[in-house]
Formats: sequence, C-alpha cells, structure tokens
Amino acid sequence: MPDTATVLAPSSAQTVQHFDVLIVGAGISGVGGAYHLSQQCHGTSFVVLESQESFGGTWITHRYPGIRSDSDLYTFGYRFKPWTGRPIATAEEILAYMGEVIDENDLARHIRYRHRIASARWSSEDNRWTIEGERLDTGVPFRITAGFLWMCQGYYHHSEGYTPEWDGMADFKGRIVHPQTWPDDLDVKDKQVIVIGSGATAATLVPNIADDCAHVTMLQRSPTYFIPARNANDLADQLRQLEVDESWIHEIVRRRILRDQSVFTQRSFDEPEKVRDELLAGVRAYLGPDFDIAAHFTPSYRPWRQRIAFVPDGDLFRAMRKGKASVVTDEIERFTEKGIKLKSGQELIADIIVTATGFHLNVLGDVAFAIDGKPLDFAKTVTYRGMMFTGIPNMAWVFGYFRASWTLRSDLVADFVCRLLGHMKDKQARRVEVALRPEDKDMPLLPWIDTENFNPGYVTRGMHLLPKRGDKREWQHTQDYWREKNEFPAIDLDDKAFVYR
Ligand SMILES: Cc1cc2nc3c(=O)[nH]c(=O)nc-3n(C[C@H](O)[C@H](O)[C@H](O)COP(=O)(O)OP(=O)(O)OC[C@H]3O[C@@H](n4cnc5c(N)ncnc54)[C@H](O)[C@@H]3O)c2cc1C
Repeated sequence: MPDTATVLAPSSAQTVQHFDVLIVGAGISGVGGAYHLSQQCHGTSFVVLESQESFGGTWITHRYPGIRSDSDLYTFGYRFKPWTGRPIATAEEILAYMGEVIDENDLARHIRYRHRIASARWSSEDNRWTIEGERLDTGVPFRITAGFLWMCQGYYHHSEGYTPEWDGMADFKGRIVHPQTWPDDLDVKDKQVIVIGSGATAATLVPNIADDCAHVTMLQRSPTYFIPARNANDLADQLRQLEVDESWIHEIVRRRILRDQSVFTQRSFDEPEKVRDELLAGVRAYLGPDFDIAAHFTPSYRPWRQRIAFVPDGDLFRAMRKGKASVVTDEIERFTEKGIKLKSGQELIADIIVTATGFHLNVLGDVAFAIDGKPLDFAKTVTYRGMMFTGIPNMAWVFGYFRASWTLRSDLVADFVCRLLGHMKDKQARRVEVALRPEDKDMPLLPWIDTENFNPGYVTRGMHLLPKRGDKREWQHTQDYWREKNEFPAIDLDDKAFVYR
C-alpha cells in the first residue's frame, strides 16, 4: 500500500489528502474498524468519515423514548472492551462506551464528522479510490484519495425510516411520526397513541410512553416472538461478587451467552414447536392465563426467521397488564380523520400515530460507486463471504449478524481486513480483488440470502439491490457466527479467489 502522500486535485488546485484506508461511518462498526487498524496495522494511515455530528451511528440517529439495544452488550460490545453494565443498554450507555473506546485509543484525531460521502471512484491506473462529498458544517466539497475503502455504513438510510403508504393518511388530523425521526417537540402526555408495528422498536417504545399517554395501542398485522426476561446476567453478577477482573468477566460471559444462543438457534431448527411453546410460555407468565396469546403473540412462522426482540424485565407486557397499553392484531383498511379504520371494521382513535414500520435498506451508504469510469451495479456482483465483492477492488463491507449481535461480525471482518492489508503489504500488492475461480464458473447465482431462512421486511424489499450468492461457503453471506468465527481467521489469502496486482 502506498504511504500517506499529498497530491493536487486537478480541478480545484486544492491539496487532496491521501490515506491508506478510508472508513465510511463512525457507528459501532467504523469505530471498531479504526480501533483494529490502530492495533493491528501499525503505520497504516487512515481516516473515518462520518456525515453525522458525532460517533454512534444507530445510537445517535434514534432518539425515541426508551431507545435501547435489543441484544446484550456483552456480545454487542466489542470483543476488546469489557462491558460492565446491565446486558440491555440504553443508547446513552452505548454512546458512553464507544466514547471510552475512542478516548482510550486516541481515535478522535482520525475521525472527521459532518463529512458526507457522495461518490467513490476507483481508478485501476492509480490503484486508488477518489472519494468526494460535502462538508455539512461548511457546505464545502471535499476530495480525498484512499488505497482501500472500508464500508461501515450500516444497512439503512439514516435520514428517514420506512413508512408504507396507506389510504387516507392525509385525512388524519393528528400527527404521524416515524420513530427514526422522532420530533423533539412531540408531547404524548395524555394523548391516545397508536404504534404501528411489533418489532423491537415498537416493543421498546410502547412501555416507555405508556405511563405518559392516555393509552397506547400496539397495532400489528401479525404477531412477533419476544423473549421477556430480567435485564441482568447472573453469571456476570456472580463473577463480580468474586471480584474477578472485568476483562475476564467480559470474555466468560460472552462465551456463555454465545453458547446459549447457539443451542437456542439449533433448537429453533431442530424442535421449533418446543421452542415456540417455551417462548409463548415466557410471554404468558407476564400476561396471565386469560390473555389471548394465541391471537396476539403466536407468530405463524417458526422461531428465528425474524430477529427475536428481548423485552427487558417484560416491560412491554407489564404495561399491557396495567391497562396502559394494549395490542390489536388486524390489518389497516385506511387512515381516517380520527385514527385508523381496520379491516375488521373497528376504528382505533388516536391523537398520534407512530409508524414503527422499519427501515429503508441502504447498502452502500448512498455512495455512487464507479469502477474505472463505469457506474457500479452492486446487484450484479457476487459476495465473497459478505465482505468483498467480485469486480470491486480494494473494498471491504461490513454487514453484521441479524441473529447474533452485529458487532461479533464487525470484529471478525476487522480482523480479516487487517490481515488482508498486511498480506498486501508483504506481497507489495496495491490491488486485491475477489474473483470467481475456474471451479466456480458454473455455480448457480442466487439471491443474497435465503428468505426461507431469514426474511425481515427491509431485506426482502431491497433484495434486488443486493449482491448475489453462490452455492459454496466462500460465496455466501451466512448468518452463522459459530461457523465464521473459525472460518474467517483460517481464510487462505493466497486462495485463487483473491487476485492481487
Ligand atoms: C433502533 C435499533 C436498535 C438496534 N439494536 C441492535 C442490537 O441490540 N443488537 C444488534 O446486534 N443490532 C442492533 N441493531 C442493528 C444496528 O444497526 C447495528 O447493530 C449497529 O449499530 C450498526 O452499526 P454500524 O456501525 O455498522 O452502522 P450504523 O450504526 O448504521 O452507522 C453507520 C454510520 O455510517 C454513516 N454513513 C453512512 N453513509 C455515509 C456516507 N455516505 N457518508 C458519511 N457517513 C455515512 C452514518 O451516518 C452512520 O453514522 C439495531 C438497529 C436499530 C435501528
């Protein structure tokens, strides 16, 4: 890789900075990437560009009441930085944790906020990327070149959430809001609120506004699985009582959680009925024997086809038990002046309607990519283990796990990228690309993920934008941490799938 150098931009005559690596995004993946580069790739120059005003990504974008993780922080936290709080954390706690990672490792000097990247152009002649965008604080365009692009852009548009179009929305006299763009001035006090959706966001929001609202109704088209449980980890608490070092506790508790999750995931394939009964029994324990669990909390799909939200201390169900919240399972016929008319004929009255209906998939951070002057069609590429793509040189992409914590994968991808950069240095290569090998040429190319296995709405809606997968492990983006944690470190970087120049 070339060392840091400064060249002149032909058009503007301004200096263009060059970095060995450019990381897109300062969310949990981008900050983790910066940490790993600083630890594993000494002497590699890098910069992190982030369009928001601070680090955190998901955890600063979302500001709705109660915003919290839905998986435990022992595994959502980085492998290298012990988590010492309760397993399910608020956005504020996650941001404080990330802030410590930045401070303790002197990463702030590498991060540039309010820098939105608009385009990334690869030149095979120069073996480098030219990245252009705009400084959102000054409105001034910028241009930076980089040897390697590390895409940590997350998976959805940060500017707005996904709201389906329903008939009559314009007729509704109250306010319609999406949790992703929660207005600062929204006052739910003594208001009738409907929250459309029953994913993790709705499950977080409903109990967190229930006490203030007159009433909040969670309106779902179909039920979702939940795991209600204490927001505590007994093993961590015991180890703390024994005054075990926090770094040990982190590692031990991670292993325990991962093992338990592995057993759970396997069981949800092997004995889905039994797992389903257990999940429903967990909900029933909070809602009592008379609640219509069959109608409202019994999904038609088998467990793990969609992410299962953890409900800390069963707060969603406790709000329902108290009568401050309720659930309706029905389809929306149309919005009315006063609320929502359902297909069953019932009308729900509301002052505020919250559409907790998901995200707009955004797989490349809205960056217009071009390779040697040709616009990139990402959907035409083939994924190499969900990290690199055929036809895109010197680029790695982070997309975490759905079924396990996202960060488990971003740490694994980071190790791979650092190893790859080191390998390029050893080989004195300035370019690496993945390519189908002779034995892969007749491989059937399939959609990015198997929707029989996993099918959240934002992925199925955006599948046409995503790369293809093959029928061999190398050319698949699995959701299998337990396989990848052994396979990634063992990837042979001299395999024929890697082409260096
Ligand atoms: C409300 C919510 C709760 C979640 N809870 C969990 C959980 O408990 N466990 C779990 O595993 N996962 C969870 N997820 C999934 C979550 O998004 C990821 O786990 C993780 O936070 C993603 O981190 P990231 O850094 O990869 O991406 P993001 O957090 O999305 O950050 C990407 C960053 O890149 C920046 N960016 C993108 N494009 C550009 C560009 N063109 N120029 C400059 N900057 C750009 C964005 O501004 C953003 O700051 C949750 C998601 C949401 C929305």
